[in-house]
Amino acid sequence: MKKQTIRNVDVQGKRVFLRVDYNVQFINGQILDDHRLRESVATIWALRGNGAKVIICSHRGRPHGEVVPELSNRPVAEHLSTLVEEPIAFVDACVGPKARAAIERMTPGDVLMLENVRFHREEEENDASFAAELASLADVYVNDAFGTAHREHASIVGVPRHIPGVAGLLLEREVDYLSRVSEDPERPFALVLGGAKVADKIAILQHLQRNADVVLIGGAIANTFLKAQGIDVGASLVEDDRIDTALEVMRQAAKGNHLRLVLPRDVVIADGQGENVRTVSVNRVPPGFRILDVGQSTLDDFRAVLQSARTVVWNGPMGLFEREPFDHGSLEVAHILGAIKATTVVGGGETAAAVARAGVSDRISHVSTGGGASLAMLQGEVLPGVDVLLDVPEPAARAR
Ligand code: ADP
Ligand code: MG
Repeated sequence: MKKQTIRNVDVQGKRVFLRVDYNVQFINGQILDDHRLRESVATIWALRGNGAKVIICSHRGRPHGEVVPELSNRPVAEHLSTLVEEPIAFVDACVGPKARAAIERMTPGDVLMLENVRFHREEEENDASFAAELASLADVYVNDAFGTAHREHASIVGVPRHIPGVAGLLLEREVDYLSRVSEDPERPFALVLGGAKVADKIAILQHLQRNADVVLIGGAIANTFLKAQGIDVGASLVEDDRIDTALEVMRQAAKGNHLRLVLPRDVVIADGQGENVRTVSVNRVPPGFRILDVGQSTLDDFRAVLQSARTVVWNGPMGLFEREPFDHGSLEVAHILGAIKATTVVGGGETAAAVARAGVSDRISHVSTGGGASLAMLQGEVLPGVDVLLDVPEPAARAR
């Protein structure tokens, strides 16, 4: 179902409650990563340009209903104003007389940032009267908080039950890309899966393998698949209780007439302390050694497959990418994705970090700003925060 966006509503002179996900960290007053802020600027510009009074609501961290000064939105507002290139007012409340008074002073085109909404425990409890109170601050609700759209919180699902709710431009782009690849990918469609746990990835595999032509498996999850094939993976991270799951996936792939699974041929290993790093064939992992990355021959296999793909979805790093030299596989996959002529979509928090580290985020069709939310969509889930927004009326239904 298509959802209405800010393009479908008239916001001239109206108070717009813009829920964003500015869950960012600061170290010594410096913002660590402002990607999420940058990605929301287009929506803010569009709303201001159309004469809205833009009231920004976000959470930061996990204050659990307490006022935690280090988690204030004030420095976020300051940083945002440098990106929007306009002053952005801040009020240290998100409901109540103070917030109301600040909103009353706004004129069309103004932007005001509210205090961290999670300073109220009612936010995460999805309290109905708290949601009504937030909603009473505005005339229109806009959700651009893709990273939080899988959460049933008051400012995500509660507010749009009271005032008309539409998608912001970032949310729209996220949902468009992630639903297109999971429902109607241009083929050949390759899925690259890695990461730490089979349990986390199996739902993605099950949902996407219907349309996938090939699944490339790396990361720690490959160890469980290798072990299921009878390969000795030494002291590597393995989920013994998922061997059956891995066998079932391999059986399904063998039975189906198109799906191909590609597992690592060679791997980068190290001993207990991360020393004695070397690349070996998968059936030559000595006892006590751990598989910490995919090897170069495997990357060559992956590249050959990816070069002929028209759509690629990547979730889960190929190795222990937080530590050199075990980041090589993930960085190389990022570079391959950046170089091919395909629709490339990256989901998952750590995977997005690997792509950023490789410096190729701009050359990927879409790097999702939502970790858990992107995984939920790749598993075929409908996000509660998207579900509550207004539907685009179906022309077919009207014609009949
Ligand atoms: P995402 O957040 O993108 O969904 P995951 O959370 O599934 O990704 O997995 C990321 C983690 O998997 C990383 O912290 C990485 O170090 C770990 N990992 C990947 N491969 C291995 C491996 N071979 N051994 C140990 N850890 C691994
Ligand atoms: Mg993760």
